[in-house]
Amino acid sequence: MGKASLTENSSGPVPQGLPPHLFQAAVEQSPVAISITDLHANILYANPAFHRVTGYDHADVAGHNESLLSDKRTPPQVYHTMWQSLTEQHSWSGILINRRKDGAPYLAELNVAPVLDARGVTTHYLGIHRDVTEIHRLQSRLGNHRRLIESVISAAPMVVALVGEEGDVVLKNPAYLTLMNEMGGIEPAHLILANSDGVMQTFGDREIRIDGRGGVQPRWFVCSATLVHERDEEADTFFAQHGREYLLLVAKEITELKDHQEQMRLNGLRALVSEQEKLGTLRETISAAIFQLQGPLNMLMAATGMELRRRHERHEERSSLLSALNAAVSAGKEAIAVLEGSLPRLAREPLVILNINQVVRDAIGITTERLLAEGIVIDWRPSPVLPPIWGYENQLRAMFKQLIDNAIDALDGEQCPERILTITSEHGDDEVRITIEDSGQGIAEEHLLKVFEPFFTTHRGSEHTGMGLAMAQETVNRHAGVVRLTNRDEGGCRVLVSLPLNVPQMERSVQELS
Ligand code: FAD
Repeated sequence: MGKASLTENSSGPVPQGLPPHLFQAAVEQSPVAISITDLHANILYANPAFHRVTGYDHADVAGHNESLLSDKRTPPQVYHTMWQSLTEQHSWSGILINRRKDGAPYLAELNVAPVLDARGVTTHYLGIHRDVTEIHRLQSRLGNHRRLIESVISAAPMVVALVGEEGDVVLKNPAYLTLMNEMGGIEPAHLILANSDGVMQTFGDREIRIDGRGGVQPRWFVCSATLVHERDEEADTFFAQHGREYLLLVAKEITELKDHQEQMRLNGLRALVSEQEKLGTLRETISAAIFQLQGPLNMLMAATGMELRRRHERHEERSSLLSALNAAVSAGKEAIAVLEGSLPRLAREPLVILNINQVVRDAIGITTERLLAEGIVIDWRPSPVLPPIWGYENQLRAMFKQLIDNAIDALDGEQCPERILTITSEHGDDEVRITIEDSGQGIAEEHLLKVFEPFFTTHRGSEHTGMGLAMAQETVNRHAGVVRLTNRDEGGCRVLVSLPLNVPQMERSVQELS
């Protein structure tokens, strides 16, 4: 509102054709409170809306100063500024605390302007005001809510971020900033969205793994995202539904819980593998006993044959030696039969689809304590993408553990100052390959062909029975795969296990073996 004029020939003449009383009617019927005062702010005129807003009728206010409306809680500085503007012939707008006739306070949004005569001299003041108490209440409530939400988000122990359509992170709480700092400045929101196909969509309770740079342990978060639609604030889109989409991301770290769960799972696997190993050891011992018995028994059977031929040539009726030999042979056969009968049966295991990376990772996890105790550095290089294969999970896990145990044994001793175990997984068109390489002493060339023979061991006198690689060979055969052991040029051994992706081949092999 600028300067107002009551005269026709100043700033705004009455447009032709419009009756003069139209302006009075318009002011009278205006829904906002309008008053006209003299230069001391004494009210000369107030329209009906003024009476509705203030509760005072014309008789109550005529001739009274506008200060009649004051609640006396508006700071004097506000009036001072208002009057200064009016004195300089400028309009003024502001909020005052007014009091209705019934004593109820209300907030008045007041616009006041000087009314000038033809010479440009201020003769009156025009006041227009409306009750904005409700608007103020709503704005305050909104502000309070916003402050409450902001303080809750700031104090929240979880990571909260608001991401725009272009991936711009427009809101970050302190927990988010801390995480971002720990991630070396990378936006965690981008990593979370990359795990969710980068699509702006609502999701809930999704477990997301974030891998840190430079071999830092992966961290786990349970994340949820909510699409938030923000209306455009511009005037030109008031009637349109224009706006922007934001994704409100909330992430809570569960790395500790995940680690705990993983430890529990590995403990379970450890117990399972240890049970398998016990059974294996028992089978090995009994098989070794059978093997040991088989030799003398063969000799006894050969001697029985010779004695039988000798008796036949000499036409002897009776031979006490032959009886003794026969008795010894049947006792030996019986002993072998008893031993074979007591061989513990391997538990039947279902053929499942599995990720060999996970199986190898588990085998490493189970042996971690031993690797740490022996001061061995493990360099695990999994192929980022590995096709799934069909297999017997427990048998494969036990086999890889056996191969890792062999490598740890090979790294034992003072001749191995550098103890490195490198495990690699990769795949070709029709196979998955796992290579286990150690930096030990390697195997004497003459032993290379024998290592897969049952009961062959280079650790005589130790607890090794020489069945480990034989059993690994058996497991690989069961998967229609190949296992090869070679010496590395740079020292140490390389064990290569290749397992087929070809399911029919695998199934045929399973049928043949079963
Ligand atoms: P005041 O004695 O009025 O003085 C307050 C300050 O204003 C002092 O610094 C004084 O120097 C200055 N002042 C006062 N009168 C003049 C003047 N004539 N010329 C120059 N300076 C002056 N007040 C409300 O509280 N509510 C309203 O709704 C309201 N509506 C108004 C509408 C119009 C059109 C006008 C012109 C004024 C309005 N006023 C309103 C202001 C009101 O007139 C008082 O100035 C105000 O209420 C303070 O009153 P007071 O008695 O506390 O102090």
